[in-house]
Amino acid sequence: MRYDDSERAQAVASRARELMDEVVLPIERARAGGVTISSGTVAELREAAREYEVYAPQIPKAHGGMGLSFRDALPTFEEAGRSLLGSVAMRVDAPDEGNMHLLELAGDDLQKETYLEPLVAGELTSGFSMTEPMQGAGSDPKMIQTTATRDGDEWVIDGHKWWTTQGVEADILIVLARTNPDAHPYEGCSLFLVPADADGVEVLRDVPHMGGGNRGASHAEIRYDGVRVPDEHLLGDLDHGFVHAQERLGPARLTHCMRYSGMAQRALEIAKAYLSEREGFDSTLSDKQSLRHRIADAETNLHVARTAIRDAADRIAAGDQARVQVSMCKVFTANVTQDAIDLAVQCCGANGIGKDLPLSDFYESIRQFRIVDGADEVHRRVIARAAFDDVSDEELEPLTRFGTPTST
Ligand SMILES: Cc1cc2nc3c(=O)[nH]c(=O)nc-3n(C[C@H](O)[C@H](O)[C@H](O)COP(=O)(O)OP(=O)(O)OC[C@H]3O[C@@H](n4cnc5c(N)ncnc54)[C@H](O)[C@@H]3O)c2cc1C
Repeated sequence: MRYDDSERAQAVASRARELMDEVVLPIERARAGGVTISSGTVAELREAAREYEVYAPQIPKAHGGMGLSFRDALPTFEEAGRSLLGSVAMRVDAPDEGNMHLLELAGDDLQKETYLEPLVAGELTSGFSMTEPMQGAGSDPKMIQTTATRDGDEWVIDGHKWWTTQGVEADILIVLARTNPDAHPYEGCSLFLVPADADGVEVLRDVPHMGGGNRGASHAEIRYDGVRVPDEHLLGDLDHGFVHAQERLGPARLTHCMRYSGMAQRALEIAKAYLSEREGFDSTLSDKQSLRHRIADAETNLHVARTAIRDAADRIAAGDQARVQVSMCKVFTANVTQDAIDLAVQCCGANGIGKDLPLSDFYESIRQFRIVDGADEVHRRVIARAAFDDVSDEELEPLTRFGTPTST
């Protein structure tokens, strides 16, 4: 399927496809069976991405990337999503990708030099610490309990977070904390750069979870107990934490959609290959109309998702936050990708469940996307709010109401 991507975007994406086919997928296949890749393999993958000139496409050249616009990086993100290892290779992997974007937008020069550039180079890893155990921030982020109190020229952070992806491995944690207890939380929270080895940062555990596959990543429960950071570790403007978080989360939700639509495409490629080779009931399975129709529906949904993602990315590139369009993409892509992977599992029979193919890893990975970065219901809430925004009672003029009989 061809899309309205610029020549440059297509050229980089085509190199990304070569990297995937020639380097990443062979490494993935060699690690079948749920083997987590080593740091040596990560380094090898990133070296290859540099050689194919597809490393950190979304980062400005000044900070060590390729300088593609958000829209032009899109098809490369899709290619990267065809394996759980693709985004690691090209340095478009969450949560670092979103955190790098946030540092690029909100960081000052020193913060960019200290954290952004080493992150781009793959010398550091990061976590974004917002979600808290009950009754703290979750789907409703304004329930945030973590506080940061000023003491001289330092901030003292106290709180309890969990589900901080990569929190166990992270060198630097971006922590959302309440800085003004009297303001509405949306106007009284701030972001802080907290070195993971600062006194008072205690990683309690990697919360046991579904998913990870051969990529592997922790989701940490972390206690911040009187953690002191200097004023220079405030990221962005004071009391503007939610604004900055939104600047991170909007594009990050969309880049998740890009990667996951690549995953859906690969799942369908595997399913079609299996159906085309496997015989049963006097023909190949790919001849069975019931399966062909389901593949057709999955291809159609994927095409609609990829088109909607491009529309939202165009809007973001034009300076619009595109909140409703991003929410639509998030819910739709998560669900159609989940359906496509479920179909691929079914089409491959026992091998869909097995770990020789990546489908069961994909199956576990996609489930979290309907929860992380805003659950389906939270995004539907955003879409529904806009949908009910312009309700007109004129449409109901012809209707008779109880107690007001018509005169004719
Ligand atoms: C794999 C993974 C990685 C994550 N990584 C990070 C991270 O790096 N940093 C971070 O800060 N957080 C992270 N999270 C946390 C994630 O952002 C939260 O799980 C998410 O925001 C939901 O919050 P919650 O788990 O507290 O669910 P709750 O707020 O308890 O909600 C539970 C469920 O209730 C439903 N629901 C909620 N609100 C409504 C509503 N208004 N109407 C109808 N139904 C509703 C939804 O189905 C929701 O799933 C991660 C989560 C996962 C699973």
